Amino acid sequence: MTSPAISPEVASTPASGIRAVANAAWAVPGAVHLEFGEPDFPTPPHIVEAAHAAALAGHTRYGPSAGLPAMREAVTAKLARDNDLDGVTPDRVVVSAGGVGALFSTYRTLLSNGDEILVPDPGWTNFSTLATMLGAVPRGYRLDPATNHSPDYDHLDRLRTDRTRAIVINSPSNPVGYQWTAAQLATVGAWAGTHNLVVISDECYDQLWLDRPAVTFSKAAPGTPFVSVFSLSKSYAMTGWRVGYALTTPELAAGITRVQEATASCVNTVTQHAAIAALTGEQSCVADMRSAYRDRRDTALETAKALGLPATRPAGAFYLWLESDVSPLDLLHRTGTAVAPGSAFGAEGAGHVRLSLAAAKDDIVRGLRNLATPPSP
Ligand code: PLP
Repeated sequence: MTSPAISPEVASTPASGIRAVANAAWAVPGAVHLEFGEPDFPTPPHIVEAAHAAALAGHTRYGPSAGLPAMREAVTAKLARDNDLDGVTPDRVVVSAGGVGALFSTYRTLLSNGDEILVPDPGWTNFSTLATMLGAVPRGYRLDPATNHSPDYDHLDRLRTDRTRAIVINSPSNPVGYQWTAAQLATVGAWAGTHNLVVISDECYDQLWLDRPAVTFSKAAPGTPFVSVFSLSKSYAMTGWRVGYALTTPELAAGITRVQEATASCVNTVTQHAAIAALTGEQSCVADMRSAYRDRRDTALETAKALGLPATRPAGAFYLWLESDVSPLDLLHRTGTAVAPGSAFGAEGAGHVRLSLAAAKDDIVRGLRNLATPPSP
């Protein structure tokens, strides 16, 4: 029997270049895994216990499409406490299945077939694959390392067309780890506002700033149409729980909710109870993980410098972006070290690799040494 045709949108969505390395690495015994961006910490016990208690108490049914009222309230309190955003009303918050769930529903709300969206290059792969999957067209905009990875506005002007609807920004960023200042956010907001574009601000690493707190987009650029996307995956080591949220206007929140209603009904209710405990409970777990990432970042930078590997100093998130012509599959087979290929993050990523700092310090140092070891002739 011939297989039914896959839709052209899905058929043209590229597979992840990181997965290709990971799949190969899983077949190498004792491989050093530095390819994925996933916290190596367990979810803090008080969060797990809250989920256990919620399940035992019978909180195991469907919830409202936009999220449990207590979760949306917890998000507004967190935005006031951690992001300096006072007075956010719960009707501006949609609880989602991770940051990626919020991004999908936001894209679906804003983009029609053939619409264009500007995405950072280098930038997280899903910013473009999600667009392709929806029949929209991603256009990578260059970031200038000389100006703390600001967009090149001439390039942005050239990329923009009558079909451009939105621009994605990401601070702190994956894969480079830059963190934009309030002035940089205000400038991109003003540019987007002039051209009637919505800013989709991915702030999934908002609590994983390493030097100074990250500024949230809507604080820096009030008045610009926006959707900010947040996640509990990274801050609370909750990748598998699948919970995040979008912050926007009540009108866009209603659109995002409608997409979520049709695609997921609601976010897992037990997970939302865990998330409420995470957001409202003791925050020292976040500070502890942040200091561990900072410590690894510092060790990684010192090691890279000693080995002569040119690296970008990450101000946030947990990645090290290195200039390297090494082929990750070749590196894996030669040394057993798995890293993410820079090309997985866009055309500007060529000639780079990304190492995850969400790994043991020894593994990071070993991985860097292997990266610096030239192939034998
Ligand atoms: N946004 C960025 C920039 C990411 O790097 C990731 C995950 O790696 C996500 C969003 C999605 O994470 P999650 O869906 O687990 O919240």
